[in-house]
Amino acid sequence: METKELQEIASLLRFEAVRMVYEGGDGHPGPALSSADIVTALYFDILKIDPANPDWADRDRFILSKGHACPIWYAALNERGYFQPKVEHFHLRQLHSEFQGHPSMKNTRGIDMTTGSLGNGIAIGAGMAIAAKATGKDYYTYVICGDGELQEGLCWEGANMAAGRGLDNLIVFIDKNGYQSYKTVDYTVGRNNPAERFMAFGWDVQEIDGHNFDEIKAAVAAAKQNKGKPSCIVCNCVKGKGVSYMENNNNWHKGVPTKEQFALAARELRGISL
Ligand SMILES: [Mg+2]
Repeated sequence: METKELQEIASLLRFEAVRMVYEGGDGHPGPALSSADIVTALYFDILKIDPANPDWADRDRFILSKGHACPIWYAALNERGYFQPKVEHFHLRQLHSEFQGHPSMKNTRGIDMTTGSLGNGIAIGAGMAIAAKATGKDYYTYVICGDGELQEGLCWEGANMAAGRGLDNLIVFIDKNGYQSYKTVDYTVGRNNPAERFMAFGWDVQEIDGHNFDEIKAAVAAAKQNKGKPSCIVCNCVKGKGVSYMENNNNWHKGVPTKEQFALAARELRGISL
């Protein structure tokens, strides 16, 4: 898909993510906006999927390891046609809603893995990649992991095993926005350099602008050329990207816009007046 088209879809998905947080009265807009362009590129250009058949055995797998960013995932699934009829109001985080505050594979169509408890995605993705090889399937497994999330030890158990087993059908994006729920990643762990660390673990590593579709697509194409190693694509992202007052403002890790703030987001993302 053309870059311009992807940019337009990403703006729509961003708006939908903010809208579902606003309407639901709770949620994580900053992390969702940070991952928006990676999710858009995956669902509208990269993933081999069939929305009419979400359990298709040969589909590419996707895990949103930073599960709290799920509003952007729900928006992507909705625009991609996973839900019939299309969802108008998500009732995000409400009791019995299909759209919980963290993704649930039991509740929501199109979700391959339940996440939210941070740190699981890389190891589970490695398991899916092993399953593909064991069953002779050529699907890829994609994971989006947060940079703060990398403080979870299990990330590195998965990274170790994925490299050891040469899982070249596993592609992990690190959404490197420099923040976590509490302050900056630097504040917590010192130097935030996932590229260096994945390289040391024996991965193929690229570092790109996580809001540039040409770079995202090229990095995935290059990752697929690489044989014998799992791939890590470190994506430099802006938390809250696309909404002026949310960008690099960690108060929006979790928060709900006021009516006026929502209207401003609508103007900035969709050019509409509410
Ligand atoms: Mg982060």
